[in-house]
Amino acid sequence: MQAEYPVTRFAPSPSGLLHLGHALSAVLGARLARAGGGRWLLRLEDIDTTRCRPDFADAIHADLGWLGLVPDSVLVQTTRRDAHDAALARLTAMGLTYPCFCTRADIAAAAAAPHGAQAAYPGTCRGMDRAEAAARAGSRDPAIRLDVEKAAAVAGPLTWMEAGQGRMVADPLGEGDIVLARKDIGVGYMLAAVADDAFQGVTDVVRGRDLIESTPVQRLLQALLGLPEPRYHHHRLLLAPDGRRLAKRDRAETLAALRAAGVDGPALAARLADLPPGGPDCVFLP
Ligand code: GLU
Repeated sequence: MQAEYPVTRFAPSPSGLLHLGHALSAVLGARLARAGGGRWLLRLEDIDTTRCRPDFADAIHADLGWLGLVPDSVLVQTTRRDAHDAALARLTAMGLTYPCFCTRADIAAAAAAPHGAQAAYPGTCRGMDRAEAAARAGSRDPAIRLDVEKAAAVAGPLTWMEAGQGRMVADPLGEGDIVLARKDIGVGYMLAAVADDAFQGVTDVVRGRDLIESTPVQRLLQALLGLPEPRYHHHRLLLAPDGRRLAKRDRAETLAALRAAGVDGPALAARLADLPPGGPDCVFLP
């Protein structure tokens, strides 16, 4: 059952500095929650310990403070490791996971992906027998993948509610057998996000359209784990003046740079809140 009041979350990874697109997600999420008398939460998605840094987490807090946005609570995702492991164990007990020993190079070669495209995993390790998997596991840690076809058959037909559009068909097969737990960090974005959205009582997921491809798989994981279904609000993306998508690596367009240049944070937040969330991606000048 949905909570009576909207609960939204802003879930950045402290692996770089935030840009205007993050500010739009934060502003729209906070507005939806506050307008409905609900709560707006911050979740620091810091599970990728190879890339996340405390100074980036500090910058997230500083950027939100500058915009005039104060979360009702903060969840640091690495503190939820036991719950992520438990969710993975549950899927494994259902017979829906398998260890994968492939390297990135193996996957790219097997899928013969066009240069630069991200290949869906071709399922190389799916049929491996237990003895072979155990022998290989002696040499290196595997990733754990979801057998998506099997999982989708267990879950049955899935949909999600997209704000302003209605029910959408969720087809999780397109992403291939996604990684539930990476071999280097022992956990993965999809499973952690789903477990934590439920843990935090999130009723409405507000995030950029670039993350819409994650939604069918996240709906699948929610169904398998018996977790509640949030509504989704995938908003338009903001573009740099030359039409490029904003990226964390472009220092000039970060919120930290705007803050340092003396831009008025609350005024910027108000302008972002006025931008209709739907419609084509657009250039936004701070
Ligand atoms: N941590 C993800 C990101 O920074 C956001 C995940 C989400 O909103 O579901 O892109």
